[in-house]
Amino acid sequence: MFSNQLNLDEFMLGLHKRNPYEPEFHQAVQEVAQSVIPYINRHPQYIKARILERMTEPDRVISFRVCWEDDEGHIRVNRGYRVQFNNSIGPYKGGLRFASNLTLDTLKFLGFEQTFKNSLTTLPLGAAKGGSDFNPKGKSDREVMRFCQSFMTELHKHIGAHTDIPAGDIGVGAREISYMFGQYKRMENEFRGVLTGKGLEYGGSLVRKEATGFGTVFFAEEMLKEHGHRLEGKTCVVSGSGNVALYTAEKIIELGGKVVAMSDSSGSFHAPDGITKDQLIWLIDLKEVRRGRISEFAEQFGCEFHKDTKVWQFPCQLAFACATQNELDLHDAKTLLANGCMAVAEGANMPTTLEAVHFMQEKNVLFAPAKAANAGGVAVSGMEMSQNSMRLSWSTEELERRLHVIMRKIHQQCLTYGRDDNGQIDYVQGANIAGFKKVADAMLSYGVV
Ligand code: NDP
Repeated sequence: MFSNQLNLDEFMLGLHKRNPYEPEFHQAVQEVAQSVIPYINRHPQYIKARILERMTEPDRVISFRVCWEDDEGHIRVNRGYRVQFNNSIGPYKGGLRFASNLTLDTLKFLGFEQTFKNSLTTLPLGAAKGGSDFNPKGKSDREVMRFCQSFMTELHKHIGAHTDIPAGDIGVGAREISYMFGQYKRMENEFRGVLTGKGLEYGGSLVRKEATGFGTVFFAEEMLKEHGHRLEGKTCVVSGSGNVALYTAEKIIELGGKVVAMSDSSGSFHAPDGITKDQLIWLIDLKEVRRGRISEFAEQFGCEFHKDTKVWQFPCQLAFACATQNELDLHDAKTLLANGCMAVAEGANMPTTLEAVHFMQEKNVLFAPAKAANAGGVAVSGMEMSQNSMRLSWSTEELERRLHVIMRKIHQQCLTYGRDDNGQIDYVQGANIAGFKKVADAMLSYGVV
């Protein structure tokens, strides 16, 4: 039963049996297992300690009922979760997602991915993910507040500044974090850095809002430079128009790239000459403040709006996948390649299907995987925690400098573990092995726990 070599198919069969009907979790593990099993087989200490089996089992899964009252006085019932995946190298850390289709499967995939991403940041951060099947879209502020308060009334028992520090994710922005932090503070009677992504008035960090998008562009820039290219002058498409997408677009424009298409779940706009910084500022206000639709942007600036259409159909040299999981499939990858795309960077978590990743790697399209490329968000969250502990605030310049340094270090780790004998770089392999090694070695040190 205990072989001295791990076999990918047997390992995945066991994982499927233990976690039936969880296709996203299977996909996330498969991607990592493909890269790390050959490495593990060269390092028998990991096989003997059954490290990969242990890493694919969350430390704990918490699920709870969330009741709240809507504006009409009806009682609503949702489900809340926190999946505390691995705290070997630091307290649990990872976002909360509010989306009507949220399942435990999605949270297990996200928590697993977070383990590797947080390890890559070089900061002492463990991994978790949580959220609810509550959909804030179309709810009044008061409804969102009542939901967040009820959600935190249960969640507060399981988190803490040295235990588990949640942040935002899809559907959880500054408004939701504020309501949850307010409720936590009220219940614990303590002002602690227990959430990140907080408002600047109460312990938030500058550059946190921008961090994931900026970091994704910094990573893409490093990857391009490594291959003798530059971002300046390149035509880019960015999927989504949420937190990650908006600030990815901002940094692309700042570095001289052209953003020709963006989207939301209703469709995409196409502006072949690229949008301006002022137009982007208008879009940020539309999305963050007025909570409008991307079609309003197209209407305002007279560009084409393509209903129910993804951005991958528009010609580009660089593609930034910043909306949601599995949004870029094999068909999209083929379209991108046919239109001359040379690089794809994942700002979202697992936005590219496994088939699409393999296709792009075969065709030498540069590919920056999420756990490396989008680690800037959690990195600045880590810096928010440091600032909270020290009771001080760093400047925008200081934070952006630190973020840039971390993204370069992550890129360097990908080179260290991802370069083959011919000098080719497999960023997926590099990120997976580098992320794995640090957590695995910490787990080995603890013995059997
Ligand atoms: P937001 O909720 O701010 O934005 C999500 C965006 O994606 C919205 O524009 C949304 O459109 C769009 N979208 C959602 N589903 C679809 C779909 N099926 N097709 C097309 N567009 C879609 O989320 P974030 O920007 O925070 O997160 C985006 C991704 O980045 C997620 O994968 C998240 O896990 C990941 N991530 C986020 C980090 C962060 O710091 N926020 C850190 C690291 C990763 P609509 O408004 O119409 O729903």
